Formats: sequence, C-alpha cells, structure tokens
Amino acid sequence: KTFRDFGLKQDILDSIESLGFNKPTPIQTESLPPALEGRDIIGIAQTGSGKTAAFAIPILQALWDAQTPYFACVLAPTRELAYQIRETFDALGANMGLRCATIVGGMDMMDQAKELMRKPHVIVATPGRLLDHLESTRGFSLKALKFLVMDEADRLLDMEFGPALDKILQNIPRERTTYLFSATLTSKIEKLQRASLSNPVKVSV
Ligand code: AMP
Repeated sequence: KTFRDFGLKQDILDSIESLGFNKPTPIQTESLPPALEGRDIIGIAQTGSGKTAAFAIPILQALWDAQTPYFACVLAPTRELAYQIRETFDALGANMGLRCATIVGGMDMMDQAKELMRKPHVIVATPGRLLDHLESTRGFSLKALKFLVMDEADRLLDMEFGPALDKILQNIPRERTTYLFSATLTSKIEKLQRASLSNPVKVSV
C-alpha cells in the first residue's frame, strides 16, 4: 500500500511527501480506509506508531471540501502532546490554508479567545481549558463541529479529565465523526467508547 491508494487530495499527498513519509505505517494502513469512508474509529496504538497522521489525514481530506470554522477538535492529555499534534496538522495542511488553534492550560485566556475568534478549522486542546472557553468565551461554540478526536484517551481519563470530557461531549453535536485513540483498552475506555462513538471500527497494531 502507498498513500496514493487512498484517493487523497493532491494537496495532502504533496504535504505527506514533503514530510518524507514514503509509505503508510500499519495503523495508517488499517485506519485510513474506514476513516475515509466516514466511520468512527477506535485505535489501539502507541506513540510512535504514526497515529497522529492516521487521524489528521481523514480530517483534512474532509475539510478540503468543506473549509468551515471549528470543523474538528482534538483533545489531548498534555500541552506537549497538543503542540505536537498541532505541528502535524500544520505540516499536513500546509497546502490548503489550514488554520489551527492550540488551546491549553497555563496560557493567557484572552490571547486564546482572540485565536478562537479567528475561526480556526482545527482546535487542538487540553479538556479543562477548552471547557473554560466553551463556558466563558462569548461567540465561541462547537455547534458546527464535524470531527472529535480523543487522543491518548487512557491518559485523558487517568488525569481526571473525565468530568470535563463529559461536559464537552454535551456541548458538541451528536451527528459527528469520532476517533478515539488509546495505548490500552481498559473497561474505562470501553465505557467512554460506548458513550461517545457510534458503531466504530476497531484498529489495533
Ligand atoms: P506519532 O505516533 O503520531 O506520534 O508519530 C510518530 C512519528 O512518526 C512522527 O515523528 C511522525 O512524523 C512519524 N510518521 C508518521 N507517519 C509516518 C509515515 N507514514 N512514514 C514515516 N514517518 C511517519
């Protein structure tokens, strides 16, 4: 399999090539076909597997036609991971005018509110701070959201982001595509899966 076999937009193939990705990793080979068909995905994969591109590519492929603000939200357990994910989106979306925002704790709320008012297509966030903005930043909502990603979901739950996650889920459309990635499949993750994914395809590497 090569990236050309998935029917991706040329802009996205060009960025993949600029990143020096010659062929898809196993998690990408498994998850890209169902993801590009619009299915929800639960991915059991470690950092280093290429999971970030596995969820970023189908989101960018869908965004390419739509170009609407607040299109996708990626939740990550730590600031460092949020910045890494944002870098991957910026690199893969470099040829399509992608706007991203990183909304994490410890940074100025007003600066972030201004960033959100620029109507980013993709928001990469830690759950607590995203919830703060949903509750207090006027004019910001995720009512138009099409994609939700919960990355390193086992760590999201370990870090007591469960209650924030529940509230975020109440603030986004039910009609959406959801990707859940986790290093382990625990009973807590299965519960989160039942609460937030619809008929998902399970991929495991
Ligand atoms: P991740 O698991 O998403 O943190 O990715 C781990 C590393 O693999 C990152 O540095 C990516 O840039 C890189 N990577 C992701 N997909 C590929 C690929 N298909 N070929 C080569 N490197 C990749």
